Amino acid sequence: MKYDVIIIGAGPGGIYSAYELIKQNPALKVAVFETGHALEQRKCPIDGDKVKTCIKCKTCAIMNGFGGAGAFSDGKYNITNDFGGTLFEYIGWNKAIELMKYVDEINCSFGGGGTKMYTTAGTAFKKKCIQNKLTLLDASVRHLGTDINYIVLQNLFSLLHEKVEFHFDSPVSSIRKTADGYAVISCGETYESRYCVVSVGRSGSKWMEQVCRELKIPTRSNRVDIGVRVELPSVIFDDITDELYESKIVYRTEKFEDRVRTFCMNPHGIVVNENTNGIITVNGHSFEDDSKKTDNTNFALLVAKHFSEPFKDSNEYGESIARLSNMLGGGVIVQRFGDLERGRRSTVNRIREGSVKPTLMATPGDLSLVLPKRILDGIVEMIHALDRIAPGTANDDTLLYGVEVKFYNMEVKLSKDLETDYPGLYVIGDGSGVTHSLSHASASGVYVARHIVNR
Ligand SMILES: Cc1cc2nc3c(=O)[nH]c(=O)nc-3n(C[C@H](O)[C@H](O)[C@H](O)COP(=O)(O)OP(=O)(O)OC[C@H]3O[C@@H](n4cnc5c(N)ncnc54)[C@H](O)[C@@H]3O)c2cc1C
Repeated sequence: MKYDVIIIGAGPGGIYSAYELIKQNPALKVAVFETGHALEQRKCPIDGDKVKTCIKCKTCAIMNGFGGAGAFSDGKYNITNDFGGTLFEYIGWNKAIELMKYVDEINCSFGGGGTKMYTTAGTAFKKKCIQNKLTLLDASVRHLGTDINYIVLQNLFSLLHEKVEFHFDSPVSSIRKTADGYAVISCGETYESRYCVVSVGRSGSKWMEQVCRELKIPTRSNRVDIGVRVELPSVIFDDITDELYESKIVYRTEKFEDRVRTFCMNPHGIVVNENTNGIITVNGHSFEDDSKKTDNTNFALLVAKHFSEPFKDSNEYGESIARLSNMLGGGVIVQRFGDLERGRRSTVNRIREGSVKPTLMATPGDLSLVLPKRILDGIVEMIHALDRIAPGTANDDTLLYGVEVKFYNMEVKLSKDLETDYPGLYVIGDGSGVTHSLSHASASGVYVARHIVNR
């Protein structure tokens, strides 16, 4: 088969490139290859009853398939260059914002129209944060919520599948340069195209490394973020989340001057397991639908670890720490903040007697046996700093789930147009190491689609 463009990966990066290619030129022949299932077939077997924990399916329904890692996410589209990736360093500050706004318009027209846009502009919390040695980062955030996010994806698929050829359950095993383009090998078949857009996200990071090795595309990697997910009664954070929904707050620790930051805030949400390459870590969701809301709010507290030469495998470092928690707890460990500070493990009884009802079934344990001291000290310091702007954060019953690891893909050497040294071979989204969020990944897809059409 011969196509104009082959896209590898049907996450936000791949979906928005396909959308924009077809919008700009409906005559283009576009194919998308995806390891995972079509959207409606993406079902995680954990039902809390017969299947309580991850059974390590061949392809993870949470991470793979139409919609990518973002399909069951909270659908928070942050419009900002302050976090979520460094796309602006490639395509320019204004262009990056313009494309994130464009993606927001599409999301709204495909079912997200009634959802709320929050902004940090003019908020009094900025001052309160500064007074307590915390920094509130600037952003506007469209909160689709897990349910509306799913509807937007359904609607996008209804439009796209008429015009784009989707190959689900079709992992691409390799990419080869041909005389006038690229050959992509999937399930033993070869498919050719003039242009190839690789958008394989975090779950495709190992495969991406292999492709870069085979094609001798330079890469670099030196960062991983490690921490915990905090769960507390939503009333404690209501003042902040009602106004801002998702606030990115940064704290510089007194002891080591490390940066600890809040990440992925889920007001009235739930804590969930996440499976990355067979290792169980923790994440969070929340819902637009009132009937699904809980009495808890959760968010991650992460410490960034940057490594220098000779150590290169920052993700392996993060995985090893996550493996430790899996080894001790059989998955994610949960601990009361009071138990952590008293230097003792949490038990089923102590959690049961606490005032915060956990939304994830995790093994009560001791996070100090898992997390490096420096990281844990930073997290404890930040919880006390947050307690000054949201009193109650440092209560004994506040729950900490570990570990949360934010893996960063290695950065692929790319031009300003997100193109590799091979003409017509683009790498976008989280798989490129350039983006780490829904809005940046989607915007990178639109950018590259337009670049291809202009050519
Ligand atoms: C639980 C959770 C919640 C999140 N919440 C948010 C949020 O609220 N806001 C936010 O900004 N970000 C959030 N994120 C991050 C966000 O989902 C990602 O940044 C975003 O999905 C990246 O898009 P992408 O297209 O680059 O990659 P992905 O979404 O990871 O998609 C890549 C796709 O490529 C496929 N693939 C991989 N390898 C191959 C191969 N060899 N052949 C074919 N297909 C392949 C995968 O199956 C996957 O479907 C969340 C992530 C998770 C896991």
